[in-house]
Amino acid sequence: MAALIDGKAIAAKVREQAKEKAAQCAAAGRAPALAVILVGEDPASAVYVKNKAKACEACGVRSLEYRLPADTTERQVLELIADLNADDTVDGILCQLPLPGHIRETAVVNAIVPEKDVDGFHPVNVGRLHLGEDCFVPCTPAGVIRLLEETGVDLCGKRAVVIGRSNIVGKPVASLLTAKNATVTLCHSRTENLPAVTREADVVVVAVGKKHFLTADMVRPGAVVIDVGIHRDETGKLSGDADFDALLPVVSAITPVPGGVGPMTIAMLMENTVKACRAHLRLG
Ligand code: NAP
Repeated sequence: MAALIDGKAIAAKVREQAKEKAAQCAAAGRAPALAVILVGEDPASAVYVKNKAKACEACGVRSLEYRLPADTTERQVLELIADLNADDTVDGILCQLPLPGHIRETAVVNAIVPEKDVDGFHPVNVGRLHLGEDCFVPCTPAGVIRLLEETGVDLCGKRAVVIGRSNIVGKPVASLLTAKNATVTLCHSRTENLPAVTREADVVVVAVGKKHFLTADMVRPGAVVIDVGIHRDETGKLSGDADFDALLPVVSAITPVPGGVGPMTIAMLMENTVKACRAHLRLG
């Protein structure tokens, strides 16, 4: 029977470690501080921002929320970011995406200084990630790798297939798996004969945004599956990009949805914020 990879428990452990390190920061001067900017009234974004504030509170991180009306101009957002960049008591800055159409996401992401870019979306952090240098790793990809590590999956020399090449999930996951010495294939909508590719894999990470996309016939027996997808049906029930029930008897380990990758994202944000603060306070 396959092992369930318990993202809730692993995320709780990551948050606990972040809390301990946040307490060390507080003892050395001040608690870590995360500034979150939300422009507009998108309900899903509002829930994410609320959950980030809750996680901050639980970890001893000071949370600063900037809720701006939907008609805020790009210039006003950039001015706020400039103020937060210059504020010595702020360690991490993130702007909740998506932004209203009149604000360019790249302009906003590029305006955050790399040292405070705890989402890991700034081109400097993206570049450092691909160079294998120390940087802020985007939270969901960092969570995927932590789940594999905590489950004891040996990636060295193994074949890993990532389905989906987005900048926020697929590409950074592929880069991180490569850094762990896996042999990585990055697949996308133009990949020919995808099932033949995925059946070669020891580890499959699926991030396509299509419910139950990864079916049992697409993986070889004993593979490990990490499901990044999140889909909510009319009744509020969550499911992922993998056909969990059909895959369970085939794989050696798999993440459920909910309770797999999902809880890891905010936990890794806490880890990144504490890392930013420790660098800021020169705690090493
Ligand atoms: P995205 O930007 O829409 O990218 C989807 C990727 O899947 C694209 O690279 C696309 O290929 C590929 N794809 C689409 N159809 C395909 C097919 N038939 N065969 C192979 N590849 C195909 O999505 P994303 O932002 O990476 O998110 C993916 C999923 O993860 C979504 O369900 C999202 O909700 C979820 N997510 C979860 C978290 C979390 O915290 N757990 C965080 C972020 C995202 P092309 O590039 O060729 O178009």
